[in-house]
Amino acid sequence: MKVEKKPEIQEMEEKPVAEKITIGHVHMSGCTGCLVSLADNYEGLFTLLDNYADLNYCLTLADVRDIPKMDVALVEGSVCINDPHSVEDIKKARKNATIVVALGACAAYGNITRFARGGQWNQPPQHENYVPIGDLINVDVYLPACPPSPESIRNVAVMAYLLLRGTDEQKELAAAYLKPPHGPRTARHRGMWMRPDL
Ligand code: SF4
Repeated sequence: MKVEKKPEIQEMEEKPVAEKITIGHVHMSGCTGCLVSLADNYEGLFTLLDNYADLNYCLTLADVRDIPKMDVALVEGSVCINDPHSVEDIKKARKNATIVVALGACAAYGNITRFARGGQWNQPPQHENYVPIGDLINVDVYLPACPPSPESIRNVAVMAYLLLRGTDEQKELAAAYLKPPHGPRTARHRGMWMRPDL
């Protein structure tokens, strides 16, 4: 009689972290280039998602329609204030996220959307006023650039993880990375700054 060999039980791979954080990508009026820049981390993105963070909201990649509670909201794009749905969404993102990151120049200071005056073919003509997200909500971390580099987005995500889940020493390290040591001027030169009371 042929005895079937039982499949071997594979040992679970040991993860270097205890509990991942949740990250959402909140898409306002942007071109998706900031999200592409996150994806351009290639294997680094898998490491991030394997070890540090679950992507629990991202209209482009995940089938979740309502903005859920999340640890970090990466907000791409500015807000069209003629569109009540957009204004409601950015306020909901603020309410549901512990840390809000203005991801990219559009979210941080409006960028090219500042020049929009409506009339685009795929938008109702009344959509013509766009403001940076900081005009409507409190922002914790600014990461301007068009788009921010893949590494800078990944670093902010990992540092947010350390800030929220790390040891006291790691929290200090993360705060030093996210919060510039010599005030806003230096911060602007580094291309990133953080709300001082976070
Ligand atoms: Fe697109 Fe640049 Fe705006 Fe990001 S900052 S949404 S890449 S235009």
